[in-house]
Amino acid sequence: MKKTVMVTGGTGYLGGWVVKDLLEKGYTVKVPVRDKNKESKYAFLKDLEKESKGSLVIFEANLLDEGSFDEAAKGCDAIIHMASPFTLRIKDPQKELVDPALKGTRNVLNAASRSGTVSKIVLTSSVAAVHGDSIDMTEQGLSEFSEKQFNETSSLKHQPYSYSKVLAEKEAWKMAEGQDKWKLVVINPSFVMGPSLTESSNSESLNFMKEMMSGKYKSGVPELQFGFVDVRDVAKAHILALESDKAEGRHILVERTMSLLDFANLVREKYGDKYKLPKSNTPKFMLYLLGWMFGFNARFIKRNVGHPLSFNAEKSKKNLGLKYTPMEKTAEDMITQMQDFGIIS
Ligand code: NAP
Repeated sequence: MKKTVMVTGGTGYLGGWVVKDLLEKGYTVKVPVRDKNKESKYAFLKDLEKESKGSLVIFEANLLDEGSFDEAAKGCDAIIHMASPFTLRIKDPQKELVDPALKGTRNVLNAASRSGTVSKIVLTSSVAAVHGDSIDMTEQGLSEFSEKQFNETSSLKHQPYSYSKVLAEKEAWKMAEGQDKWKLVVINPSFVMGPSLTESSNSESLNFMKEMMSGKYKSGVPELQFGFVDVRDVAKAHILALESDKAEGRHILVERTMSLLDFANLVREKYGDKYKLPKSNTPKFMLYLLGWMFGFNARFIKRNVGHPLSFNAEKSKKNLGLKYTPMEKTAEDMITQMQDFGIIS
């Protein structure tokens, strides 16, 4: 029998790849969207359905509206809950980040409980729910972060996106413990790169690459370390977590950790000087003066710039069997897609 899965956030950068993979595998995929009239947001999913053996059903739901996922959850075997705003360009962190993340998680998980059919939920969390600032690692006496850690340093005022992710993931674990209808498995991706299937996502992954390629950092880049992972591997990890009976707990996804300058150098290796990529790190003292240009305040700079960062992603390989795409291929495929979409030449 064909299985039915609801994917919240299916219109997004990561969500598009998850929906594609599920449709190709023959699943019935229910995708709730905020406004069914805005067909341009999900037209690419309909095109993917046509080329697949699966079927797509579009519903209307909003993370902020209680009960709005109930209809879509009815009859589903499982839910992949990805929807959550991934933006750093906000004015009101409570309204724009925490409410949709936290209320949305409660809403979707309650819909699962009420459905009577959902037996598994795969939640898209983040390494932002594992740690807040890079300095947390040395402050906690660690040489790397693993699935054992939860972010304890973010707040509404400091790293509010990360705060929204840790609140949502903790709430999901609390709700999972209070019931026995469905099992929760969590995926904690690092910074996601790679081609996008949609032109309408506002994901910071896409914004970052646009800025990097269009020369925003040409005179220097902040010395920040990130874990990086391919968007297609993140989608695969969700499907592996969905389909494996043994999958349990959290899963950090990182292909490698490197600085933004290392990432720029990796792109330069392939494209030479075609793009205005940074060739140096901006000195930290300059960032204290010019940090506003990057949207950084002094606390962020102090706790992140120039600090080492490391993750242990072994569980994703051992337990899920995930094989990582090298970041060189990820970046190349992303740049090709950006050229195809006319974002860069
Ligand atoms: P994205 O393209 O902006 O996707 C966000 C999705 O959430 C979109 O489908 C969006 O719908 C939906 N959404 C936002 N607010 C909503 C609301 N109030 N009601 C219903 N749906 C709403 O971002 P992404 O990068 O793919 O991120 C997807 C998930 O992965 C998020 O949970 C994010 O925290 C997590 N994540 C991302 C990264 C990364 O580097 N990109 C890393 C780790 C974790 P619309 O189409 O209507 O806007």
